[in-house]
Amino acid sequence: MLKLKKQLTLALLKPDIVVNPTIRNQILHKIQSHPHSFTIVEQKDILWKLAQAKAFYKAHEGRFFFERLCGFMTSGKFTALILAREDAIHYWRQLIGPTHPCRARVVAPGTLRATYGLTDTRNSFHGSDSDDTAKREIKLFFPDFDIDEWKTNQEIHDIRKS
Ligand code: GDP
Ligand code: MG
Repeated sequence: MLKLKKQLTLALLKPDIVVNPTIRNQILHKIQSHPHSFTIVEQKDILWKLAQAKAFYKAHEGRFFFERLCGFMTSGKFTALILAREDAIHYWRQLIGPTHPCRARVVAPGTLRATYGLTDTRNSFHGSDSDDTAKREIKLFFPDFDIDEWKTNQEIHDIRKS
């Protein structure tokens, strides 16, 4: 049987989640359990300065929500995760659902943003949107993490199992 290769993505549990430890732990449990089955490869709590938030969301500079987004992302700690599974980038974004929680509740009920998201700004989660973005974001949040080494170890693990 063809075994699909595992992929890494960068996920954030935003400050509206981290402020509530019970909810945060529920989510950490849920994403590792069946049927989602993500592996948490690395995990870190981070408190940003405003300049760091502005740099991360630079693509949105000038949009009407930019200041409030950066204000929110510096309002408290958030949790950064490196997640692994087959097609992790796609499945994590599918699990969190559309950007706007109100819309998510209509078109993707049961997704994490539909369940936990408070407003368009305080939408609880982030997920990398492509392989290149994932690499860049993993490097930003986990500068000591070696993606190539992780891939090599993964291949050795797969060969031993087959
Ligand atoms: P994502 O990839 O689904 O997180 O969405 P984007 O990359 O388009 O936007 C980045 C973040 O900006 C989102 O996760 C929201 O926190 C915020 N955001 C995006 N669109 C809106 C909007 O229309 N209104 C507000 N208030 N915030 C938004
Ligand atoms: Mg985005």
